[in-house]
Amino acid sequence: MNAAIEHLPLAVPEPGCLTQVAERLYWLRMPLPYALDHINLWLAEDDDGWTLIDCGIKNDVVLDIWGQIFSNTFAKKPLRRIVCTHCHPDHMGLAGWLAAEWGAEFVTTRGEWGMGRLLSLESAYDGDLYQRHFQENGCSLEFATGGARQFSNIYNLYAPVPSSFTCLRAGSVIHMGGVDWRVIVGLGHAFEQACLYSEALNILIAGDQVLPRITPAILLQSHQPTGNPLHDFLDSNQQFRALSADAAVLPSHHQPFTGLHARLDDYDHHHQERLAKTLDICTAPMTAFEVSGQLFTRELDAHQAFFAIGETLAHLRYLELEGKLVRTLEGGIARYARIS
Ligand SMILES: [Zn+2]
Repeated sequence: MNAAIEHLPLAVPEPGCLTQVAERLYWLRMPLPYALDHINLWLAEDDDGWTLIDCGIKNDVVLDIWGQIFSNTFAKKPLRRIVCTHCHPDHMGLAGWLAAEWGAEFVTTRGEWGMGRLLSLESAYDGDLYQRHFQENGCSLEFATGGARQFSNIYNLYAPVPSSFTCLRAGSVIHMGGVDWRVIVGLGHAFEQACLYSEALNILIAGDQVLPRITPAILLQSHQPTGNPLHDFLDSNQQFRALSADAAVLPSHHQPFTGLHARLDDYDHHHQERLAKTLDICTAPMTAFEVSGQLFTRELDAHQAFFAIGETLAHLRYLELEGKLVRTLEGGIARYARIS
């Protein structure tokens, strides 16, 4: 962690409990069944009810905790509105269920709504696409089939995402907790991630775009193979440099902190280092699978290995579009080599 980052002096909330962050703004946590074992959610209080930011993943443990919150917090004042920063299941998994239970408005960007809706529907899953993607990038048939299987049940982590929504765009303003929050759209980790900034409170609700301890996953994925997510991420992050350096950041994972600009510097340095290393590796034509094996030298479980391919591809693609690597496709296998 960068020395310039400091945690806010707030108690991490117990499951089902709220920690106050500012006037009419609260922090709650939901567990996740992964190495990253929690997500932070936020609740803003108005006279007529609550606005919730992000929802948690769909499983029995999280549903039970929501049951507790229904019978204490929401029994006094209802849930009126759900804002999702982005479509990943820890953020949007229970949005459809919560919206139906409370008749709450569902609010997000168009890109996040569309992708979340697709991910939450079993019928939208395309296993062949995943398998072709992994094979084209140098993975064995066994690895590629495993990769496709890994993503085949992602819809289980969601209640179906609502079929209608209220649209946020860059610059949209949401009034919640008595103050205005302006939408800043972050790219690269998700499609159009909605981050919210309150000038009055000098607080940024950052979703997964800016995190205190980890780098958000920046993956080139099978559904958008010609994208440049790493460029999108680094470029869209520059918007946050216009915010006050002492803004409090409420991230979706780990603890609220100050040191936004230092964290943006960390991300710039980290990815420049990874890009330089990637370029060093590609002295001869290499597949993403081969490059990934050299970039990620620690032991990876199956889940992490698929993410490593996506991360590696994001860096390869960035360098290709910068004119530093050339991509060739022979016999259905893509390889990248340095242009000397
Ligand atoms: Zn995410």
